Amino acid sequence: MKRKMVIANRKMHGNIPDNKAFLEGLLDEVAELPDADYVVCMPHPYHFQVQAILTGTRISWGGQTMSRFEFGAHTGSTSPLMLLEFGCKYVIIGHSERRLSGYESDEASGQRFEEAIKVGLIPIFCMGETLKEFEAGMTVDVVIRQLNAVINRVGKEGLAKGIIAYEPVWAIGTGKAATPEHAQCILSFLRGHIELIDEALAKNITILYGGSVNAKNAQKLFSMPDIDGGLIGGASLNTQEFIAICKAANDAS
Ligand code: PEP
Repeated sequence: MKRKMVIANRKMHGNIPDNKAFLEGLLDEVAELPDADYVVCMPHPYHFQVQAILTGTRISWGGQTMSRFEFGAHTGSTSPLMLLEFGCKYVIIGHSERRLSGYESDEASGQRFEEAIKVGLIPIFCMGETLKEFEAGMTVDVVIRQLNAVINRVGKEGLAKGIIAYEPVWAIGTGKAATPEHAQCILSFLRGHIELIDEALAKNITILYGGSVNAKNAQKLFSMPDIDGGLIGGASLNTQEFIAICKAANDAS
């Protein structure tokens, strides 16, 4: 059985005392949860604090996005090299909140993925359909288009260096998670698509589900054979709820 993974996407939330309470509370608990892997993606200004608290522990951390460029005249952007300097191991790429605000198109997400693996960050590549696309029965077309934008750029060797997260836009922050059966169906489809390129990669690549995962639905979602864990937004703002999700992942591993 593959180890499950739980990633917190704390979005634009938190402050120094709140982050400290979250990270220290989490550290106390995950010491007893050795069978899954845990990652926190905090807003960029806090990486220094995150690094100070988490260095040498079982919890990894990452950025919520990054620039396609390593340096230069890109006001307000964060270089992947800067993420590395603060100990980040992961970086979220192509999150729908960034795709829909026009910052990360398919092409720009592919470029970021390529740059992330070039510098040694592990991209957490997000994909998923909007409600309109879901209702029009376009889920599979959308996720394949989004995934192919990466595969066409970095090939199977590049894809193998990342993680995928299926996050239907209609489930993000709405409290309406996909049913475990729907999530399983799409993840199994994605794995099947990757299998056409490389059988071993399809088996080994980590594919997460994200979208209103909470303490109540995590166990059922994580029991699905193709769901390797979760990308958690809102529920990561409540330390106890997030710990309950980590426990579900540990127990399902
Ligand atoms: C996310 O933003 O990646 C996410 C999954 O959010 P939520 O859990 O709040 O739906």
